[in-house]
Amino acid sequence: MQLGSSLQTKQDEDRDFDREHLWHPYSSATHPLPVYHVATAKGCRIKLKDGRELVEGMSSWWCAIHGYNHPVLNAALRQQTEKMAHVMFGGLTHSAAIELGRLLLSIAPPSMRKIFYVDSGSVAVEVAMKMAVQYQYALGKKQKTNFITIRRGYHGDTWNAMSVCDPITGMHSLFGDALPLRHFVPSPAVRPDEDWRDEDISPLRHMVEQHARDTAALILEPIVQGAGGMRFYHPQYLREAAKLCREHDLLLIFDEIATGFGRTGKMFAWEHAGVEPDIMCIGKALTGGYMTLSAVLCSDMVAEGICSGSTGVLMHGPTFMANPLACAVARASVELLTQNDWQSAVHRIQEQLKRELAPAADLPRVKDVRVLGAIGVVEMHEDVDMEYTTRRLVDEGVWLRPFGKLIYTMPPYCISQGELSRITSAIVKIAGERKPH
Ligand SMILES: *Cc1c(COP(=O)(O)O)cnc(C)c1O
Repeated sequence: MQLGSSLQTKQDEDRDFDREHLWHPYSSATHPLPVYHVATAKGCRIKLKDGRELVEGMSSWWCAIHGYNHPVLNAALRQQTEKMAHVMFGGLTHSAAIELGRLLLSIAPPSMRKIFYVDSGSVAVEVAMKMAVQYQYALGKKQKTNFITIRRGYHGDTWNAMSVCDPITGMHSLFGDALPLRHFVPSPAVRPDEDWRDEDISPLRHMVEQHARDTAALILEPIVQGAGGMRFYHPQYLREAAKLCREHDLLLIFDEIATGFGRTGKMFAWEHAGVEPDIMCIGKALTGGYMTLSAVLCSDMVAEGICSGSTGVLMHGPTFMANPLACAVARASVELLTQNDWQSAVHRIQEQLKRELAPAADLPRVKDVRVLGAIGVVEMHEDVDMEYTTRRLVDEGVWLRPFGKLIYTMPPYCISQGELSRITSAIVKIAGERKPH
C-alpha cells in the first residue's frame, strides 16, 4: 500500500513536471494536451508507464521501420560506442561514414554521386536549398534564388524548409513578412491509380515558364505528400516536372525524407516514375529510428557547379556532421532492410491495409480511404478532435497520431498480421463513432 502510493506520487510528479516545463511538438506550453508516458518499447509494441501496451502504428513518425529495441541495431550502436561516439568531420573521417556512404550509393538513384551528411531532415532541406542557390550563383545566374513548389507539401520546420511547406497547413500566416515568399502551384490532383490527365501539369508549366528567371529549383516530395496532407499523386507528374526543369534550367530537388527506405513500396519513391533528381534529401528511417541523421545527395553536375564557383566550397558544416553513432546504426538499419525481403513485407502490409480499411469508405464521416505501400490513410470530412481520438485509439490498444482530417498509419515493416488488424479495426471503429458531447 505504502509502495503503491509513493509510486503513484512519483507518476503524478512526473506528469506535472512534463506539463509544467516540457514543450511538446506543435503544442501549447500553457495548455498542453495530455501525453502518454512510455516506459519501454520493443518490436511493434510501446509499453506505457501505467502498464498498458500499445501496438505502434506510426513508426514514430516514419522512422522505426524495424520496430523498437532491435538486437542488430542495438549491437551496431554498442560496437561503435566502443570505438568512438563522435569525432568532428572537419579534417577527419571514419569508417562509419564511409561504409554508410557506400551502402547509400548502392541504393540511391545512379546519378547521385556526392553525399552531405547532416543532422535532421529540416537541415537536409536547408542544405539542399543552399546547394541549389549556390549552384546557380556559381554558374553566374545570380538572380536565380527562389523556389517553386507544390501546395500541401511538408519539408520541415526550420526557416527555409518552412517557407516551402504548404502556406496553410504550414501556418505561414504566423510569421508575417519574415518568411521568404515562394512560388506555389496547386498540388497534383491525379492519383497513382487513375489515368494521367495532362491538365494536371499545366499550373506547374505556367509557373515555370513565368518564373524560371528567378528560380533556382523545384522542390517536392515525390509521389507521397506526407505531413502536409498524406496525398498520393501520379508518377507522370514527376516525369513532366523533370522535363520542365531541364527545359527551363531549374534544378530538381526530391525530398525523400518520409518516402525513403521502402515506405511507398519502392526503396525510394522516385523509382515509381523513373526520373532522377539533381539533389535528394533522405532522413527519418535512415537510422531505423535510433538517432537523428539525414543526408543530402547530389549529382556530379551539381557538385562540380558549386565547387567551380568563386569560393569553391559548400558553406555548411554542422557540429555533429556524420556522427559516428548515427552512421553506424544507419548502416546496420539499411543492411537489415536490404538483406531482408522488405518488398514482400511492405506489399503484405499494403494489401492488408487495403482490405481492412476499405469498410471505412462507407462511413458517413469518412471522405476518402487511400493506401500506398505501408501507408494507410482515412480522411474524414471534418477535422478530428486530436485529444479525443488519440484517447479512443489508446483505449483500443493502438498508437496513432491523427492530425487535421486524417487518421492514418505507417507501421513498422515487422508488424504481424494480428497487430495490423488491431490498428485497422480501431481506425474503422473510431471513424464510425460520433464524439459524445
Ligand atoms: C519529417 C520531414 C522533414 C523534416 O525532418 P526533421 O527530421 O523532422 O527535421 C522534411 N521533409 C519531409 C518530407 C518530412 O517528412
